[in-house]
Amino acid sequence: MVRKVKINSSARHLHLTREHMDILFGKGSELTKKADLIQPGEFASEQTVEVVGPKGKFPKVRIIGPLRRYTQIEVSKSDTFVLGLKDVPLRDSGDLEGAASVTLVGPCGSVTVNGLIIAQRHIHLTEEIADLWGFKNGDWAKVAIEGARKLVFDRCYVRVRKTFALEMHIDADEANSAGVGADTYGIVEKSDCAESDKNFAPIASYIDHTLLKPDASKEQIIKLCAEAREYGFASVCVNPFNVKTAYKELLGSPVKVCSVVGFPLGASSSFTKAAETRDAVADGASEIDMVINIGALKAKDYDVVKKDIEAVVLAAGGHLVKVIIETCLLTDDEKVKACELSKEAGADYVKTSTGFSSGGAEAADVALMRKAVGDSMGVKASGGIRDYRKAKEMIEAGASRIGASAGVAIVRESLSGV
Ligand SMILES: [Zn+2]
Repeated sequence: MVRKVKINSSARHLHLTREHMDILFGKGSELTKKADLIQPGEFASEQTVEVVGPKGKFPKVRIIGPLRRYTQIEVSKSDTFVLGLKDVPLRDSGDLEGAASVTLVGPCGSVTVNGLIIAQRHIHLTEEIADLWGFKNGDWAKVAIEGARKLVFDRCYVRVRKTFALEMHIDADEANSAGVGADTYGIVEKSDCAESDKNFAPIASYIDHTLLKPDASKEQIIKLCAEAREYGFASVCVNPFNVKTAYKELLGSPVKVCSVVGFPLGASSSFTKAAETRDAVADGASEIDMVINIGALKAKDYDVVKKDIEAVVLAAGGHLVKVIIETCLLTDDEKVKACELSKEAGADYVKTSTGFSSGGAEAADVALMRKAVGDSMGVKASGGIRDYRKAKEMIEAGASRIGASAGVAIVRESLSGV
């Protein structure tokens, strides 16, 4: 069976809510139809607005009717450069998480909205065709386009609805790169990506999905674990009390449970740190992030520091131990010494920060720590890593693990192709 779909390039356009229509065109104003679109009920309206970004603007951007529940502006990656917007996410229509902010200017007023996205390429299928072709809503497809700029688009999102018309939507950048003209068709096949691949991002395997807030609820821990499963994070990092819950939630998944010991000050006794470790392991933790004895390190009581780490390594019984050295409180010499002592004590990782002191992860510290421990140990960067750019910077500096509470946002940014 040949599965053939017409390829249509969407010019930059927007959808408006009733509320924003009122602001831009006057209370009670209505969109007037200029032309019907292929999708039943959708139309290009006569009305346009100016879309204004921090650097540039586009006059006369077409509104697609009818009005919707959300205001959404869809542009190409090239357009985002003109507007002066960075890191605009790639999104399915209606998913505005992390959408960029722009100002819309109409004849009667203006409004600033967080609603600008780059639309994920997608295929509209009717239920009949989806059945025939063996696709269901939410699948990925691969679409081959012939011609002088022959190109195969993978990761095309499949949308199925009874009322759809068969059509594929790509943006202007994609259309140009594949030489798509007015009468271009593509051949549709199953994607090479696994179904679960929708959320797959290489960076996920670096991330300890972290929730160490004192007021974290059981519901929040359960949600953390569900996200870790969905996105394929390395571990969830939780306080000792929450280990049991996390262990239960993650049974049967490859996601590890990580807990913290001597946290966040590192000033408890070695006996207590060892007892905390045994308790966490008994509850199901297989990774332990302990805080070094910072005061002893600064006093050059190196034997105390080393024995403190050894006590935890022993209590962990072969499970992974990461040593938090709290870089923001140390000189460079102390950071290097802390790494050497961790290595001598048999720990598996050194880690920059608790996230509860005066500073977080810095690329220069990660590089210094990597140099100090060599290739045989891991380096975990943590504290203040809230976006993909920072996470990438840490990995480039030598981090092999990232501790972050913003893991989902980091993965989504990485998938948006910025
Ligand atoms: Zn579409």
